[in-house]
Amino acid sequence: MKTCLTGKRRYRNQLDARIALANTRRRDRSEKRAYQCPSCHGWHLTSQAA
Ligand SMILES: [Zn+2]
Repeated sequence: MKTCLTGKRRYRNQLDARIALANTRRRDRSEKRAYQCPSCHGWHLTSQAA
């Protein structure tokens, strides 16, 4: 898997990102939502509110 310049883990599509987000929440991490990255066009998780 290529790494985005943001250094974040990249997901292929919104579904993958949302599944990862659900798993992350289960572990009490801080990520709150998924968003599509403008630089790699993949999906990342962020702790920032929309
Ligand atoms: Zn990216």
